[in-house]
Amino acid sequence: METIKKLIRKQSLEKLYSTLSASRKVYAPVVAADKRVEYKYNPAYAEVTFEHIQSTLSVKNVVFPKVENLMYYTNNKVDSTITDIDLTKIPEVVLWGSHPCDNSAYDVLKSIFCWDIKDEFFAKRLEKLVVIGLACHQSDAYCFCTSVGLTPNSTKGSDILLSKTKSGDYIAEILTEKGNAIATASPDLFENANNEEAVITEVKQTFYHEQVTEKLKTAFEHPFWVANSLRCIGCGACAYVCPTCACFDIQDEAKGKEGRRYRSWDSCGFGLFTLHTSGHNPREVQSQRWRQRIMHKFSYMPDRNKSLGCVGCGRCSRGCPVDMNISEQLQALQNI
Ligand code: SF4
Ligand code: SF4
Repeated sequence: METIKKLIRKQSLEKLYSTLSASRKVYAPVVAADKRVEYKYNPAYAEVTFEHIQSTLSVKNVVFPKVENLMYYTNNKVDSTITDIDLTKIPEVVLWGSHPCDNSAYDVLKSIFCWDIKDEFFAKRLEKLVVIGLACHQSDAYCFCTSVGLTPNSTKGSDILLSKTKSGDYIAEILTEKGNAIATASPDLFENANNEEAVITEVKQTFYHEQVTEKLKTAFEHPFWVANSLRCIGCGACAYVCPTCACFDIQDEAKGKEGRRYRSWDSCGFGLFTLHTSGHNPREVQSQRWRQRIMHKFSYMPDRNKSLGCVGCGRCSRGCPVDMNISEQLQALQNI
């Protein structure tokens, strides 16, 4: 649909939040006791932050939970029965105040989970998701959205995008039918837009992702990977905080005759990730795993999924215990 531009006053935003959270699950950012920003379901409005640069974890868990049951089963000696998960019970979730990089990451995940065969679990959660995004009026040195084709106010992935103005009111860009349904249900809260402009942070472009992708075509055996991954300890934190990392493991867990099959997040940064039953490991050292992380996001995905596997949120660099900075590495790769 064509974008509709409206204005929401500060006070009206609180009313909108209260209306939504009274009838459904609203997942919103709050500042935790240790000062980290995390998302919670239906926090009190006074707790919700509009000033965060980035939450520590991304919000991919609303469509790709850390642990997700895929089926339950009962095993007898002669037969077994399977109970499917009832996907119709997945509730609608309103994601509130997530930034453009995180919102555009849902398209990246979709290009993975719905690439050939549609992953019903992911697709149903995405269908039930309504995104009320928040454009960034602040950023830090780790942000690099502008180097991966996005901006601090990209509308991709949002149903409504809010942008703060100098006076503290918000411009609301209504972008989809889902967003329009929310706006039309509370017409008093959405006023006609005035001439006020949004305050949007500036994020400097530091590399050209097209050039990085081109360089990677011939960089598989380059000494860059060893030289730049010697300090990586393979902890996997970069994958766990990342909004686009989609690796998972599937396990069965049984007690007596009853059991469940579930999937849980995994990481290509772990030594065991590619270990074969034979004992052979095609990625036996950490430099090969680091290369895989970069190659997957900036070479294999553009080639196969027609999508970059990175939205420039900078979380992996903020969270890395040994200061591996992906943006700096991509800048260096552009020039090898
Ligand atoms: S967070 Fe840092 S140390 Fe841990 S696997 Fe990622 S790059 Fe390596
Ligand atoms: S690779 Fe790092 S910067 Fe890119 S989307 Fe993932 S966490 Fe964000």
